[in-house]
Amino acid sequence: MHNRIQTGLLLIVLSVLGILGYNAWLWETTPPGRSYTDFLAELHSGDIISVHLQGGEIRGEDKIGRPFRTFAPDPALLMPQLLDAGVTITAEEPPDLFDRLLPLVLLIAILSVLRMFFTKGSMTGSKVWTDKRFQLRAEPADMKTFADVAGIDEVQEELKEIVDFLKNHEKYNLLGGRIPKGVLLQGPPGTGKTLLARAIAGEALVPFYLIGGSDFVEMFAGVGASRVRELFAVAKKNAPCIVFIDEIDAIGSRRGGGNGSHEEREQTLNALLVEMDGFSSNETVIVIGATNRPDILDPALLRPGRFDRQLTVSLPNLHGRVKILQVHTRQVTISPALNLTVIAQGIPGFSGADIANLVNEAALTAARHKKLSVEMDDFEAAKDKIMMGLERKNAAINEKERRIIAYHEAGHAIVARLLPDTDELHKITIIPRGMALGLTQQVPIEERYTYSLMYLLNRIKVLLGGRIAEKIVFNHLSTGAANDIAGATDIAMRLVCEWGMSSAIGSTVYRRKQQQFLGTVETSGNFSDVTAREIDLEVRRIINDCYAETEKLLRSHNRLIHELAEVLLINETIDAEEMEIVMHCYINTEKSAKTTPDKQNTIDKTEEIPA
Ligand code: ADP
Ligand code: ZN
Repeated sequence: MHNRIQTGLLLIVLSVLGILGYNAWLWETTPPGRSYTDFLAELHSGDIISVHLQGGEIRGEDKIGRPFRTFAPDPALLMPQLLDAGVTITAEEPPDLFDRLLPLVLLIAILSVLRMFFTKGSMTGSKVWTDKRFQLRAEPADMKTFADVAGIDEVQEELKEIVDFLKNHEKYNLLGGRIPKGVLLQGPPGTGKTLLARAIAGEALVPFYLIGGSDFVEMFAGVGASRVRELFAVAKKNAPCIVFIDEIDAIGSRRGGGNGSHEEREQTLNALLVEMDGFSSNETVIVIGATNRPDILDPALLRPGRFDRQLTVSLPNLHGRVKILQVHTRQVTISPALNLTVIAQGIPGFSGADIANLVNEAALTAARHKKLSVEMDDFEAAKDKIMMGLERKNAAINEKERRIIAYHEAGHAIVARLLPDTDELHKITIIPRGMALGLTQQVPIEERYTYSLMYLLNRIKVLLGGRIAEKIVFNHLSTGAANDIAGATDIAMRLVCEWGMSSAIGSTVYRRKQQQFLGTVETSGNFSDVTAREIDLEVRRIINDCYAETEKLLRSHNRLIHELAEVLLINETIDAEEMEIVMHCYINTEKSAKTTPDKQNTIDKTEEIPA
């Protein structure tokens, strides 16, 4: 909103400057005027050297080089006199109308641009707005059905009822049943909330109106509320229909939030509540709201008769991801050898939108390599690109840094490989991507919903492994491990405060959440300063213990670090299989080394590697 005002002001300033500039230029380039009689007198006394004629306008120079300008009422009569006086004459066509009108045209253009800027969504709540934003979305081409939605079967099941309401609203009305007015879909972005709403409209063959919550929040007071009223006026006229309000938290957040424009938002919210209470049961308008922050919604929105049905759309699990992959690979030619389950395993945490993006990216990659079908390595490349950003193959990294990165990643990988109850190694790379200089990627074989203490501690150790390897080999510390350390600290913190896993602190939840809420940081804590200190000490103890154990582990496998790092320096990227080969070589040579008594390196029971 601010931007628009700023751009507007900028335009005004620019156009004023422009107009001033143009006038100044005219002033500069226009020589002083002279009366025609003066001019004739000078001409006859031989004071004029040259003239330039343009229509009746005369510009010229006199003997002492002063420019002047005058206007001849009858240029035809002047001509012989000029010739007589022996003046140098030049001439050009009189300026056409356009040249004369140019400044005016420019001014009008600038003004109309300004006008466009300010009428766009202005206080008039004009018809223009209505027409542009409230297009019917149920055009056949864009029609979605439940077949396009995958992996969220439970939610879909619930929503089938709504389709039925919309299709048979007369029947429901006759029976006097109360048709739900509002459904709130809550869940992370990209999980298919909009898609679901579209699919309901598509299934029930009713118009679909989509509007973003932030479209209501305008800079002029009262606009939001009037937009709400307009929206519902249009919707009621076209009932039965679906109104989808995306990011409804933009208008429906808890009142009295103390944020600048909240009065406007409150008006808008009130209008929405009034409208939702207002329509009668024979106006089958179903409002579907979507939000990823249900916690900040105003409770008034959630009362019966409003958004009283709340459905959670969560990120898809493995099964869901396979289903969504199936939906999106329908439109692309995929290799018969492609195993969607394997792909789905490698993308934990991907939303439906991420998966759609992944398939698209993989298809593009395949096309770039002129392939006939999309293959596994295209998906792998697409995934890396999405998850880690583009490869920066030519990033300027010197040989010394490259070695450090290789040892750092080797450290992560070895800890991950040796400790039990850790996620499978998937890939290790020292090719910089996005912000990361190297990466050790692990994927869970199965979805995990709960984590054991052992898993969490080992996760911390894997994170610390990178830095420790650097320290063991080069005896130096680098900033490259900053993210790892932040990650490890975060896990230790939650372990103590959220999951009650520390025996010293006990099973009490200590909330120390810093919520970023509308720009202000709310720090809440339900504990005393003494407890805070205890928590700090405990977190530090956990990290330090993990550090010591990891260091011990890595030191005992010093040779493995070197071997793996060397392989990484040569190959840059290695996958799980190649990692196993490195491990194999290492174990075999280690076994034969065991026979020589002076070798100290032994592998603990827990670290026994299945051959
Ligand atoms: P949200 O509204 O939850 O942010 P969208 O509905 O806009 O998410 O999803 C964006 C895109 O992601 C969809 O158009 C669709 O291509 C894809 N998508 C998301 N979830 C799913 C799903 N469950 N099944 C199939 N495609 C999905
Ligand atoms: Zn690291």
